[in-house]
Amino acid sequence: MKNIVEKLNTPVNYECDVLVAGGGIAGVSAAIAAARRGTRVTLIERSFQLGGLATSGLVTIYLPICDGMGRQVSFGIAEELLRLSIEHGWESDIEKHVIPEIWLTDHTREERAADGKRFDVQFNPHLFVMSLERVLVELGVRILYGATAVATSEKDGRIEAVIIESKSGREAITVDRCVVDATGDADLCQLSSAKTAIYSNGNTLAAWYYFTNEAPGAHLKMHGFTDVDLRGTPEKALTKKNYTGIDVTEVSEMVCESHAAIEKDILARREKGEIVIPSCIASIPQLRMTRRLKGLYELSDEDMHKPFEDSVGMVSNWRKRGPVYEIPFRTLRGAEVKNLLCAGRCISVTDAMWDITRVIPDCAVTGEAAGAAAAMTDDLDKLDISKLQETLVAAGVVLHESDLKK
Ligand SMILES: Cc1cc2nc3c(=O)[nH]c(=O)nc-3n(C[C@H](O)[C@H](O)[C@H](O)COP(=O)(O)OP(=O)(O)OC[C@H]3O[C@@H](n4cnc5c(N)ncnc54)[C@H](O)[C@@H]3O)c2cc1C
Repeated sequence: MKNIVEKLNTPVNYECDVLVAGGGIAGVSAAIAAARRGTRVTLIERSFQLGGLATSGLVTIYLPICDGMGRQVSFGIAEELLRLSIEHGWESDIEKHVIPEIWLTDHTREERAADGKRFDVQFNPHLFVMSLERVLVELGVRILYGATAVATSEKDGRIEAVIIESKSGREAITVDRCVVDATGDADLCQLSSAKTAIYSNGNTLAAWYYFTNEAPGAHLKMHGFTDVDLRGTPEKALTKKNYTGIDVTEVSEMVCESHAAIEKDILARREKGEIVIPSCIASIPQLRMTRRLKGLYELSDEDMHKPFEDSVGMVSNWRKRGPVYEIPFRTLRGAEVKNLLCAGRCISVTDAMWDITRVIPDCAVTGEAAGAAAAMTDDLDKLDISKLQETLVAAGVVLHESDLKK
């Protein structure tokens, strides 16, 4: 293989206490949590808006923060962002975009279970982008858009600086406390000496887009056809490939396939006489599970209802009613780098569990925990977990299933 040897002399143009890489739901939650604890936070985002898959990927269903059996299990920033996502409503069709009544008024667990509606919402991605940004700006978080993390500089087992590339070229940001990898793809883990694992099944094609089918000015409808539909209706499938999501050629191919699938769907609908005016397609690849941290603990779907001493919050299972999982702090960090935490899609979980913890509310839970921890230390080996738990509880997080309202 040919190599180009580059001579690099990278200027240090920024410094911060906490560096958050990736501005998806996990990164935003981490930035909020770290900034609220008085630290200087820099968030780098390779695109030009916050929210990641939830907004740029048009995945606009904020899945439940309850267990489906009448108990709320995710609190703190997970609930705060759910409410924020609908602060300005939608446009019309407001019915679908509000918190179910049973969760707004005082009810027992049994009443909520009997009602059956889960604590979730659908949001307008464009409005959510602006709300998320406003919150970070008000907290004094420095946001660097169009900035991609491309390397780390490690010293004595710590990341001392993260190298970014942007319109300004190549620059270094020094980090006094911790780095939070919220890139979804564990890029910072990959760029440092942390250990990573790749999702063994790969991702099937997804192609969610928005269109209006009524008069101009009418509300938009989201149309998505995903792997499930593609599997269920093979005649629709343009590809049966699976994508790892971490190779530029393959990701580009997937994006092209996704665009072709949308075009095919639009034309097929029009042929049937439907009015389809596309208004928005995703601006980032709709990938679910790609690369993750191999951390101190790998959370498994069999850890359901299991208490963990180092729990930093809880999540439910969006696919099933009943399961509750405590998230051990050890899923957010590895052994190799003393000041690197993961949040969101790339925490340390088994393949089966990955499909549970990757969703929006869960990313907020792990983001909040990672951001709070990042603000507290420059060496995670020395972090007092009980102090981290105290600060999370003070911020409204419930750590253990045994602490939930009976
Ligand atoms: C088709 C599909 C449907 C889904 N449906 C739902 C659903 O209905 N409800 C639900 O709750 N969840 C759903 N999900 C899952 C959920 O949307 C995401 O997993 C979740 O939003 C991920 O959040 P995150 O912050 O971990 O990562 P991401 O949203 O992926 O955010 C990562 C951010 O980091 C940035 N980034 C990446 N690399 C770098 C780098 N090197 N430097 C700087 N920035 C970088 C990216 O641009 C991105 O903004 C779905 C996912 C897909 C793909």
